[in-house]
This record gives sequence, C-alpha cells and structure tokens, in this order.
Amino acid sequence: MIDTHAHIDLPVFDPDRAEVLQRARQQGVEAVLMPAISSEGFAKARRIVEEYPDVYRAVGIHPHAAGDANTAELAAVEAEIMQPRVVAIGEIGLDYYYANLACPAVQQKVFREQVRIAKRCGLPIIVHNRDAHADVLRILEEEQDGTLRGVLHCFSGDADYLCRALELGFYVSFTGNITYRKSALGELVPLVPEERLLLETDSPYMTPHPHRGKRNEPAFVRFVAEKLAELRGQAFSALCQSTTRAARQLFRIGIGALLLMFPLFASTGSDTTRHLYAKSFGFGIHGATNTIVELRRFTTGEGQTFSYEGLPAFGAHLFYEFHDAFSAELAYTYSRNTKVLKTPQQPWGQDRPDIYQVLELCLHWSPNPYGRVNFYGTLGGAALLNRINERQENRVALVTGVGLRFNLPTGVGMFMPWMEWRLDFALGRQQRDVYLSSTDRRSADVGFYLSLPRVGLLWFPQW
Ligand SMILES: [Zn+2]
Ligand SMILES: [Zn+2]
Repeated sequence: MIDTHAHIDLPVFDPDRAEVLQRARQQGVEAVLMPAISSEGFAKARRIVEEYPDVYRAVGIHPHAAGDANTAELAAVEAEIMQPRVVAIGEIGLDYYYANLACPAVQQKVFREQVRIAKRCGLPIIVHNRDAHADVLRILEEEQDGTLRGVLHCFSGDADYLCRALELGFYVSFTGNITYRKSALGELVPLVPEERLLLETDSPYMTPHPHRGKRNEPAFVRFVAEKLAELRGQAFSALCQSTTRAARQLFRIGIGALLLMFPLFASTGSDTTRHLYAKSFGFGIHGATNTIVELRRFTTGEGQTFSYEGLPAFGAHLFYEFHDAFSAELAYTYSRNTKVLKTPQQPWGQDRPDIYQVLELCLHWSPNPYGRVNFYGTLGGAALLNRINERQENRVALVTGVGLRFNLPTGVGMFMPWMEWRLDFALGRQQRDVYLSSTDRRSADVGFYLSLPRVGLLWFPQW
C-alpha cells in the first residue's frame, strides 16, 4: 500500500515519527507521500525525507495559506522541485468552507499559478477541494491541455463531479471518512476505475473507524483499503496491488534508482520536464538526404572511393518507448539514385535508377530522458534491399547514429520532432560492374555505406 497523503511533518508527529512510520511498514505501507502546506515547512520536510527513505514529498501552498502567497513564495515552490524525492505539487486547491481564509479570487489565482508550475515541470498535482467543486473543475478544465495530471484528494462530491474529474484524466483518493456509518461517498467508490484509485489517510485528520477520534496515522490506511475493497466487491490484496500500481504510475515512485543513474542530466536547472511518454508507441515520418559512398576495388588496376551525394530519401517510423532511457525503433527509408542514368554528358550510364530501400531495427539510448531536449545515440542493424544496375542486391548493414529530439506535449498526444545523423555500413563486398566511361566498364568488389542526415516527426497518441 502507498499512503498518498499524510501530513507526518506536522508537530503532532514530532515525538514519535519513527514509530509511526515503523507501524505503517508493519501494516504493509511501502511509501508515504507527504504534502506541503506552505513554503515555511519545506526545510523540515527536506530533513524528514533525508531521514526516511520511504517518505516522498509534494511541494505547494495549501489554500489555507494562500493569503500569504506572494511571487517569492511561488518561486520557492518552483525551486523546491529539484530537491530529492519531490514527486508532486500539492496540496493546492480551493477551500470555501472557512470564512477566515483568503477570498476565492486570491485562492484561485494561487491555485492556477501552481497548476502551471506543475505543467511546466511535468509533475502531477494533489488537489484539495472543500465546497468549491465548480471552481476547481473550471480551473482544471481550463488548464487541461493534455499535460496536466493529478489526484483529487479526500474526494467529496457527487457522481457528476466524479465523472468530470475522471474525464479530465484525474485520479481520485478517499480517506477515512468513507468508513463512517453515514457516509454517502460509498456509492461513488465503485465508479472509479481501478487504475485511477489511490489510497490515503490525510493523517493526522480523517481518522478511519474504529480509531475515529484519535490522531490518524499512515498505518491506518489499511482500514481505508479494507473499506474500499468491500465497497468494490474486490479482494483486499487485489485492491492493495492496483492502488499501489496507480500511485507509482501517477507519482513515478520507484523510478528513483533510474534518476540516480543520471544525476547530472536529471537535474539541470528548472528548465527540465519529466519524460512523459514512456512505455507507449509513437508513429512518424522522416525525410533525409542519402549520400552513398562506394569503396571500389577493381579486379584490374587501382581502387577508388566514389560517392553519390545528397539523394532525397523519405520513410516511416514505428517507435516504442519500453524504458525511460531506452527505446526501440523500426524505420523504413526509400531513395532512388538517378545519378547513374544515361545523360548527354554521361552516355555510358544505365537506363533505370538504382533503388535503395533500408529497413532498420535500432535501439536508442538517451542519457537525459527527463529533458525537454533529449540527446540520443543509436545502434542497430539494417536490411538493405537495393536494386543496382537492374540487379537485386540484398545486404545487411550495421547502423550507428546520434541525434536530438524535442518533447512537445499537446492535447492530442506528444509530438517529437527529431534530427539525427545516421551511418549504415553495408557488411561485406559484392562484385559489380562499374561504368567509368563509354569504353571503360570494369568489374569491382564494392563495399559501401549510406550517410543519412535526417529530420522527422514522431507522434505518441498516448503517454
Ligand atoms: Zn486537503
Ligand atoms: Zn491534506
């Protein structure tokens, strides 16, 4: 289980925080996500995650603190994102219940600004909502451009509100209040798809039955999970598994080890975004200029190196991100060499152009998968299905390349323009007739490689 919302940084946990977390572990809690209230608590929260490796942080300004939120405070939130184990912006939102809080207009402004920080940084948001359903939905709907992800924590509201939140791609979590006898929320629980349902306690508040009235703590997330399983008619273990999987997916908890592998690239200032399209398919097209370099070894006389430069080429791509740093690519490229044709200046040429078809299967590796701009290296193999001098000549080739790609998240998927330089080395040599002039036609062993600087565009419908 993962408790995705527990204020264990509050002073009420100061005397026994270690024991509280130990009890949670004994109940099967793998991780605890600790949301922030204001920037004043950041330093303390930093110390807590340093001490407990299974505690993660969200950073943000709670609507209760929105009255004091100025530009400096918002900048502090954005700067704090680079600290270890910060996985979300939160909790943020609107609270119209208490009369002594900042007025709705101020709260909405602070909420929206933080939603934008989250989008800029590719982090999910944790939304607090009390008696402000319409305004929360409106702001989320206005800001949703395909890049906004998050959870409505301590869900309250009706089925209509729930459906609209789910349509926006949001996750939902319920707290101990669903264990209370008169809770009407029970009917909504089965409506949440299992991949969108999260667990939380909201410790020290919202203590579930049978501990109601006492201080809540992450170990009690078990009672919330049991109630959710009962309401959904699901086995307890299955519910724990699906909610843990959903929490890991939303907050990317558990990919920390990978981040540590590339510490330099993973934190290169505020202009970085998370890699959002991992583990999905992309499709694309590309254009290239194909330069064919032939290494000819004549059976009589000297050898020579000869090139046909800048032949237009084009093709299509299938891309699969199976890992944050690694992806697989299947590409097809077609080009025609018309420079071998007979012309008035070259009357000894051929009647038909040479055709080069390249089918490549490559592995891409990016050292900075969380950047807006990704560098990558390519290694792979290719089948060259060429038609040269009217003769079919099939070869295998070794493929290497380097490139740059850009992540452009939009409402209809992720677009990824890229540019790279690729070399395909044909293996082995082939005997071939080479025309040097109208009277000089020689037999040669020909080896060749293709130099393909190319640009393309990939589209990931889902990420
Ligand atoms: Zn809250
Ligand atoms: Zn809270």
